Amino acid sequence: MTLRAPARQPLEGAALRAGLVRDGLLVETGVPGLVARTAAYEAVVSGIDHLVTEAFAHLAPGYLHFPPVLARTAFRRTGYLESFPDLMGSVHVFVGGDEEHRELLRRSGGDERWEEVLEPSQVVLVPAACHALYPLLAGRLPAGGAAYEVRADCFRHEPSDDPARLQSFRMHEVVVLGSPAQAEAHRAAGVELAVGLLEPLGLDVAVVPANDPFFGRAGKVLARGQRDEGLKVEVVTTITSGRSTAVASGNCHRDHFGSTFAIEQYDGSTAHSACVGFGVDRVSLALVSVHGTDLSGWPAGVRALLGL
Ligand code: AMP
Ligand code: ZN
Repeated sequence: MTLRAPARQPLEGAALRAGLVRDGLLVETGVPGLVARTAAYEAVVSGIDHLVTEAFAHLAPGYLHFPPVLARTAFRRTGYLESFPDLMGSVHVFVGGDEEHRELLRRSGGDERWEEVLEPSQVVLVPAACHALYPLLAGRLPAGGAAYEVRADCFRHEPSDDPARLQSFRMHEVVVLGSPAQAEAHRAAGVELAVGLLEPLGLDVAVVPANDPFFGRAGKVLARGQRDEGLKVEVVTTITSGRSTAVASGNCHRDHFGSTFAIEQYDGSTAHSACVGFGVDRVSLALVSVHGTDLSGWPAGVRALLGL
């Protein structure tokens, strides 16, 4: 069955956001990039999650659904703080006694820096679902490498008025670890699978070379290197007018996580890894942008694919 995207023009960000709220898909919290999702919206996300699981089932991946927080020690080793300090989020907790409690309440009641009474906890917020996986894989992989399907609520400190740029969003990734060739083949095949999954939903997508938003002056060099070496590609579509947005990404990490977390191939050499990550909230928003906020009016084929 071929489905053609209807000739609906993408809305401005503010208009799309207003429609999502007005028509009962999302509830705004007052914090940019932080939304509560209704059952109708979640039905779409579940449908997308299911399609991702199905598309990669031939890899027989292990499945891990991570909590939204990650061990601070593991996070420190991923290199995220070196590359994206501006996006991270850290969890602080209260461990004081009565006196510190009074001080905490006094400060938090006013506009004082009450976080100075808090202590860093053992955890930070997960910035990417696959980052929670690598720390668990120290040791030798099975012959033939390993595949994992991972999901997590991710946090990135990038407050924005763009309804597709959230601070808290879901990522559903498929990760392969093994030889350089296995990792590269997974990225290539996985991006094709992503396109094959998204197009029948009526999304007009393109695969483009990309780079991560590395921080600072040194980051410019890293971003250029990543792009020149073709390590990141994005599957992009138009969610809001005048802007192309990544709904999925394919990343080759080379041996970065393998060497950091002592993950070995079966022959003892350092494992390479690659991930294909779906921003399931963005896919959901892209579908609303194309088909409208009334899910009952979506094309029957799309509804069937999503199990709506
Ligand atoms: P990345 O690790 O940046 O390649 O992110 C993987 C996928 O997560 C992207 O392709 C997006 O679909 C999604 N994503 C990244 N950042 C955000 C965000 N701020 N809000 C919603 N989705 C995001
Ligand atoms: Zn990843």
